[in-house]
Formats: sequence, C-alpha cells, structure tokens
Amino acid sequence: MELIDLRSDTVTKPSAGMRAAIAEAVVGDDVYGDDPTVNSLEQRVADLFGKEAAVFTPTGSLANQLGIRTLVAPGEELLCEANSHIARAELGAAAVFSGITTRTWRDERGLLDHSNALSFARPNSGPYLVSTTAIAIENTHNFGGGTVQSLSEIQRLHAAVQGQGIAMHLDGARIWNAHVASGVALKEYGRYFETISVCLSKGLGAPVGSLMISTKERAAKARVWRKRYGAGMRQIGLLAAAGHYALDNNIPLLANDHDNAKKLAKACQEAQATVVNPDFVDTNIVGLDLAGAKLSAAEFASNAKSEGLLISALGPNYVRLVTHMDITPPEIQRASEILQSLLQRAFVA
Ligand SMILES: *Cc1c(COP(=O)(O)O)cnc(C)c1O
Repeated sequence: MELIDLRSDTVTKPSAGMRAAIAEAVVGDDVYGDDPTVNSLEQRVADLFGKEAAVFTPTGSLANQLGIRTLVAPGEELLCEANSHIARAELGAAAVFSGITTRTWRDERGLLDHSNALSFARPNSGPYLVSTTAIAIENTHNFGGGTVQSLSEIQRLHAAVQGQGIAMHLDGARIWNAHVASGVALKEYGRYFETISVCLSKGLGAPVGSLMISTKERAAKARVWRKRYGAGMRQIGLLAAAGHYALDNNIPLLANDHDNAKKLAKACQEAQATVVNPDFVDTNIVGLDLAGAKLSAAEFASNAKSEGLLISALGPNYVRLVTHMDITPPEIQRASEILQSLLQRAFVA
C-alpha cells in the first residue's frame, strides 16, 4: 500500500526537473567562495528580501542560530513565543553554542500580539537583570498551526523597539507560505528584521538548504561561525541549484497546499466539530485538537498509519497534518476519508 505522508512538508522528494538542475549545476569550493551557483543563490535570496547578503546553511536551525548569535551576545537575552521552533525544536542550541538566555511569551495560536512580546522586554538592564537584545518572530508559526502573522503587529513591535537596543529576527522557515497566503511582499517582510532565516527544504521541495539573510557584515560573521560549527561545505552548488529551481518554479504551487489543507480541515470538522476550525487554517498546516477523544494523539496517529496515512503526534492530544507538493488530489480525498472515519470512532459516545 502506498502511504500518504502528511507528517511534514520536509518529506518532499526532488522532482525530475529539480534533479536535472542539480545534475547541470556549475560548482566550485564554497569555503573558498568559489561556487558560482551558491554565490548567485545567496545574492538572489538577499535581494528578494531587500537585504545585502545571505549565507547558505544545511538546515533552518543553523540559519536561525547564526542569525541569533550575530544579534545577542553571551549572557544577553532573546525573547520568543513559547511554542516557537527556536524555543522548542532547536534542542537548546542558543544556550549551548552562544550562551544566550531565552524567555518566552504566549500568543494564542502563535499569533503575535506585540504587547505580549513587549511586556517581557528589558533592554539595557545594566548589572541587575539580563538585558533583552533580540526578539524572534516565527512566520508562519509552525506549532501555532501554520498561522500567518499580522503585518501590523510586526510593524507595531518594530516601531516600539526602535532605539531600545533590541533587534528583530525572523524565523521564516515558511515565510514563502506566509507571502503566498497574505500577498505581503517578501521585501516588505524584510524591512522589519535585522536577520532572517528561510528554508528551501520545506514546501519549496528542495532536498536540503536554508539561508541566513542580513547585512554584509553580519553575513561575514555568520560565515565564520558556520565554519566553526563544522558546516563549511564544498561543492554545494548541487544543493544551491535545487534552491534556484525551487525559487523559479515552486512558490506559486504553495497555494495548492493551502487549498488542500483547508479541504482536510473541513473534512475533519464535518466528522468532529471540536477538533479544528477551518477558518484558522491559513496555510499548509492543520492541527487537530483531540481533547475529549477516547484515545491519545499517539494512538490516533498509529491507527492512521494502519490505514496508510502518516501524521505527526506532537502533544498528548495534538496531531499535525502538513500538506505539500508531492500530495495528489486523490490522496487528499483518501486522507479525508481516513481521518473522518478515525475521528468518528475516536469521539463516539
Ligand atoms: C523546519 C523549521 C525550521 C528549521 O528546521 P531544520 O530541520 O533545522 O531545517 C525552523 N523554524 C521553523 C518554524 C521550522 O518549521
């Protein structure tokens, strides 16, 4: 049986066109700055966000960590939302590698309320308290359910921290999804952040690749730290070519993923109204709240697997479905049927 894999949008496999682009890539040794395909990708992505420079990284976590470490010195503080990837899914990297302390605020569905973030900010705290020197925003917000941040909340936060010695970092692993869903230009997002991370390996379908985007000066610093962390890579024009292909072809396809996620959410809501509100599904992630069900999220995911559907159990009562470019319309239909029947059984009186 062919499995339908909705665990993540990282599971996409390079298409024939992308593989051809990889095969034809002109390459060089990137540690010497000699790989023309990497150099052009870095400049292209920096330009997309209206920034000076970018550094290619193997993962989005490293792109986040390089950004943060150029903004926050050891012993200083980064603020982020409690369910953000930086706080929960990077295994304490900011503390382990950069001596950064982190405090978190809570936003409903991860949706930024600038006043929540500001209520925690303590810039220039002298010798008494930890000084806040950066705030990270995640857009879209993964564990918030793929939610798109409000531009005006970002603008308000940005305005409030001007002159305070607080910089802003964007975890833009799925900024492409936010851009397609909101119509906000990538350059507009770029205006409010000193550093930005983006992933090519999620919905855009590249096998590997993220970038940290910022000023020339910060990118140069990040390049040193990337090498120190052991991620100085050689003929990675092979990977950068996949990135160019993804940017050339795959951004508009994200709208299909968003439609598919909405369909899945509607099907689930039909079967059990309490698990999801389709109006809250902004992009390609559907979170199902199984509170009140007769089984745990892990059991629900395991039952789905027996039916040929792979999904992620991310909390005791929370499962996540992520749509992506390798999912076909018949698979969405089939996944909807499987989920409806599982939900009916899980909630039967
Ligand atoms: C996937 C993801 C990342 C980066 O993950 P890697 O697996 O390290 O590439 C960063 N932030 C968010 C919000 C993500 O979803």
